[in-house]
Amino acid sequence: MLSVAADVTAALAKTGRQELPQVTPIDSLVPVHAPRPDSSVQTNLQETNPWEAQAARFDFAARKLQLDEGLWKVLRYPSRELIVHFPVGMDDGSIQVFTGYRVQHSFARGPAKGGIRYAPDVSLDEVRALASWMTWKCAVVNIPFGGAKGGVICDPRRLSQGELERITRRYTAELIEFLGPEKDVPAPDAGTDEQTMAWIMDTYSMHLRQTVTSVVTGKPVGLGGSRGRREATGHGIAVVCDEALRHLGMPVAGCRVVVQGFGNVGSNAARVLAARGYTVIGIAEYDGGLYNPQGIDIPALLAHRKSAGTINGFAGATAAEPHELLTRPCEILIPAATENVITSHNVERLQCRILCEGANGPTTPAADEVLAAKGVFIIPDILANAGGVTASYFEWVQDRMGLFWPEDEVNQRLDAIMSQSFRDVIAYAANHSVQNRIAAYMLAIDRVAATTRQRGFYA
Ligand code: NAD
Repeated sequence: MLSVAADVTAALAKTGRQELPQVTPIDSLVPVHAPRPDSSVQTNLQETNPWEAQAARFDFAARKLQLDEGLWKVLRYPSRELIVHFPVGMDDGSIQVFTGYRVQHSFARGPAKGGIRYAPDVSLDEVRALASWMTWKCAVVNIPFGGAKGGVICDPRRLSQGELERITRRYTAELIEFLGPEKDVPAPDAGTDEQTMAWIMDTYSMHLRQTVTSVVTGKPVGLGGSRGRREATGHGIAVVCDEALRHLGMPVAGCRVVVQGFGNVGSNAARVLAARGYTVIGIAEYDGGLYNPQGIDIPALLAHRKSAGTINGFAGATAAEPHELLTRPCEILIPAATENVITSHNVERLQCRILCEGANGPTTPAADEVLAAKGVFIIPDILANAGGVTASYFEWVQDRMGLFWPEDEVNQRLDAIMSQSFRDVIAYAANHSVQNRIAAYMLAIDRVAATTRQRGFYA
């Protein structure tokens, strides 16, 4: 008789998938350990595991806050982790089985909130880390959400629109009882977009037999999306860059910027910064890079990318090796692509004055130590890229009111929250004599811990 595992493998082989993804058991849950007494962020970890990176910073900040052991355990681990394996009919008539995750880290301050990522290398540890970062991010900007994140292992570049729609609808149906405007509100992330959110909203609404626009954010404006949401993460990055220059006494004129990733976050950050007088000298994509010390014309590059499908071949800059671009002299480096791009392998060669983290988790804890020694001013991810979730919060509010704001009003509210949050983090860093990243974690953990204590424990 076949074992269950062999059965599953045989069934998957029939449907095209060779094996189920490995699921890492969550570290230290059994037994749960008290915070360690050492005084630095633990850096001797598997450097590029985002969950370990998140947990190391959390532990360090929690120790600084002298968080009691019970709360430390509550806040360190996700509340709920869902793994779904679901079949999808492909264009060629075959059936494929896809794996999806949704991790809900915290509901302490409100419904869980966080994006959905479609990528071939999505893993549970990555989604756990991203969900935890959403909790801390929402708390840093003081909006009433907890944190969540989702992902589906697939390569959206190799799937047709029809296949993407069927994957999205079936993934949504698998999670349906765990989603909702008061439960968990997804949004786009790498590999997903407004269309993905429209399909999720429609699938959820069909199951409930009523239109529920506030179940997702980042929707098309005609379906209850907020004006300004698409550009909001990049816009927020420009706000915190302005604040950082003011704080450090540096002028905008002559401020050279290098951006990695020319997707939603990177292209909007580059566009808004260039419009504000910054000189964007470098753009790095996964398949090539561009360099122009006089400044790249970003609207022209966007038009080129739209027609050519790539940034390569743009006449207004010279081609450059994308990894090497990160190490060119500049005032601001903005990694806006993915995790683990600034590591012990390249950090020594960085020459930026400010590191503004557009992506989630671009810098490893080991690299942080070197950056601190080099005196690089870090605007950490949970602050720098929080403009997206802040505008998502505005979208959720507008959907529930049924009243929609003009783009100017969205941007004014966004500017106010991003500037205030920057000042909160800087003040926290000064008051507690810690680096900006740890200050952002401490501020966030302090806020989530306060709510958790007030709510008490239903046990
Ligand atoms: P996206 O898919 O729109 O863009 C990512 C871009 O980065 C793509 O153009 C891709 O080709 C490029 N890229 C991927 N790997 C690369 C590499 N190794 N080197 C150079 N380029 C690379 O995704 P996005 O929404 O812009 O998200 C980017 C990052 O920002 C992710 O870490 C995401 O979690 C984070 N983020 C996104 C939002 C949002 O509102 N979209 C909000 C907060 C944080």
